[in-house]
Amino acid sequence: AIPLVVAISTAVSAQNGLLIRNRTAFEESRKISVLLFDKTGTLTKGDFGVTRIESVDKSFSTEEILRLSSALEQSSEHPIAIGILKKVKEDNITIPTLQNFKAITGKGVEANVEGKDIKIVSPGFLKDEKINIPEDAFSDAAETVVFVLVDGKLAGYIALADEIRPESADAIKIFKKNNIKVLMATGDNEQTAKAVSEKLGLDGYFAEVLPEEKVKIVKDLQAKGEFVAMTGDGVNDAPALAQANVGIAVGSGTDVAAETADIILVNSNPQDIANLILFGKATYNKMI
Ligand code: ADP
Ligand code: MG
Repeated sequence: AIPLVVAISTAVSAQNGLLIRNRTAFEESRKISVLLFDKTGTLTKGDFGVTRIESVDKSFSTEEILRLSSALEQSSEHPIAIGILKKVKEDNITIPTLQNFKAITGKGVEANVEGKDIKIVSPGFLKDEKINIPEDAFSDAAETVVFVLVDGKLAGYIALADEIRPESADAIKIFKKNNIKVLMATGDNEQTAKAVSEKLGLDGYFAEVLPEEKVKIVKDLQAKGEFVAMTGDGVNDAPALAQANVGIAVGSGTDVAAETADIILVNSNPQDIANLILFGKATYNKMI
């Protein structure tokens, strides 16, 4: 009877925005004690809009900062890149060509544009390079801020805003009711992470996390006896998804992340995980 229950459960899950790749994941869902969420695109909509562009080195206008950035963001699939490109389109900016595009893992992107080395990076990158962060950069805690460097010097920054998904708060209530701790690990800055965590009433968060650090976060939780489910997207998250007891790749995730995961969350909606857990518990109760 158990395989039948699992088969039915798998079919029901598919209708609810989940693809179960590993059938034991369904049975294991009722053991989850900690849910470690990524932020952008899962707890939040992942739909960034540019709110401010500021020039720090006054020899670069805000238009020039956006124009140089546009070349790099056209080669990136990060939600921040998509947000910046919307603004580029609105402002009718002609995107320059680039050479030698590369990702700076967990910290940003870099390329050569019109003979200049351009980087668009996180606040963490500036801290590592001991570059001063302008005081007013984080005037609004809800904003995500990326910094534009030209030949290694800070030219200016771009602030963007995302929104919390309306479904996140409801899902978190269900997790709490089922004694599941909800944590968040994000590459985004401390202020934004804190604001999202407080708004959603999370049990904790990790900010400015590099992809390779996620594996350690999962291992540390497991060492404390937790049964960890983790959501992630992108190639970088694959090792942590593999380490988690239940790895959940979110919808827009790359193929590599999806191949490593036990579950694929098709619509990136936390509510679907809540339904899985409730359904898993109900099914298990029926079996015994
Ligand atoms: P997350 O998915 O949590 O944002 P990532 O590792 O993808 O984590 O990115 C970490 C940080 O690196 C971002 O918050 C941002 O500051 C910076 N970053 C990454 N890619 C880009 C990009 N294409 N443009 C601007 N900043 C980027
Ligand atoms: Mg990411």
